[in-house]
Amino acid sequence: MIDSTRKDALDALDATRAPALRSWIESANDSSSDFPIQNLPFGIFSDEANPSPRAGVAIGDWIVDLDVLHRARLIECEPVFARPALNAFVALGVERWRSVRIQLSALLASGSETIKADAALRPRALVPRGSATLHLPVDIPGYTDFYSSKEHATNVGSMFRDPKHALLPNWTEMPIGYNGRASSVIVSGTPVRRPRGQIKLPDQDRPVFAACRKLDIELETGFIVGAGNALGQPIGCDQAESHIFGMVLLNDWSARDIQQWEYVPLGPFNAKGFATTISPWIVTLDALEPFRTSSPKQDPEPLAYLRHTGDHAFDITLHAHLRPEHADSATKLATTHFKLMYWTMAQQLAHHTVAGCNTRVGDLMGSGTISGPTPDSCGSLLEMTWNGQRPIALEGGGERRFIEDGDELTLTGWCQGDGYRVGFGECAGVILPALQVGE
Ligand code: MN
Repeated sequence: MIDSTRKDALDALDATRAPALRSWIESANDSSSDFPIQNLPFGIFSDEANPSPRAGVAIGDWIVDLDVLHRARLIECEPVFARPALNAFVALGVERWRSVRIQLSALLASGSETIKADAALRPRALVPRGSATLHLPVDIPGYTDFYSSKEHATNVGSMFRDPKHALLPNWTEMPIGYNGRASSVIVSGTPVRRPRGQIKLPDQDRPVFAACRKLDIELETGFIVGAGNALGQPIGCDQAESHIFGMVLLNDWSARDIQQWEYVPLGPFNAKGFATTISPWIVTLDALEPFRTSSPKQDPEPLAYLRHTGDHAFDITLHAHLRPEHADSATKLATTHFKLMYWTMAQQLAHHTVAGCNTRVGDLMGSGTISGPTPDSCGSLLEMTWNGQRPIALEGGGERRFIEDGDELTLTGWCQGDGYRVGFGECAGVILPALQVGE
């Protein structure tokens, strides 16, 4: 028999995702808003009136100040919101994330007057999103990047090794990954300096030290660990999702020329470590639940520790745009889909911990570049232009093989519901020129 309190809690959670639900905040009801009342993603923001970074939730064109609501005793929770990172809130666990979601949904739903009719509270509780500064949502103790798109791995293997044996034999047996740099994860909007490094030109014996000439994006999603595991205690595949707080968009900026020279035998290093951009709002798995779907069939069947039951992908459509400096319009580079990923987030986390590696609240795990079967569904310029051989024409003139200085690259993504969408906002960055020698 299902405990009746637990059933009530699940019914309340389901009610927060009802497609017909509307908010008294009008901009949240716009079908093209990333932040309808069904979403309620968490982030960290500040504004001119209060420059202290603190926790908020995006809705329509607004940010709900969670600390203000908590002090007004409208949200029941431990005092964790007046902090510059969400880690303390995330560490409270899934029952608390859900309870805050349910309380917020009730306060923001059409018909609720608690905030709407309180002339003193309302302007303090709601901050215009356009006038706020967004910060990294969590302190990130560790960052890992996977390589879980079969199309991407096949394209890269074909380009750099052998089209007949594009996938190495281990690829279909485990989610391949590497330990990245948490220190250089930055929030959307932070400019990225073009890296310099060792580049081996084909006609020379030794490398040169120069600015990267093949600067690229990797269109990815990332997930944030919400409950870690102890050292030596792996997370089972069927339990893995309960360890995930939510998802962000992630651009794993990549210096292809540096990468090609340095990556053997231990994988990428300076080619990736200079910057990784994430979107500022963490969309919870509770908000993504209605968009759960199946992932591609796995052949061969994975080893037992990588098997799970049910569906573990989410139907998220993703886009990449490029806007040159001073250009009025951006060119859409690609449209792709998270559900195409061969390995799931649950399998990535199970594999990451199977040898005993511990994870911590706030850890960031990148999906790997998300590519589909066609050039305009690829998640990197490397693939779209086939290593620069087939340039992309830009709207308004010009073309690109790789990223040029001043270019702004923007990733967006959302799940399409009936009359609304659950979106991620933007993951954007402008490229600054490389330092000159001696700078
Ligand atoms: Mn990557």
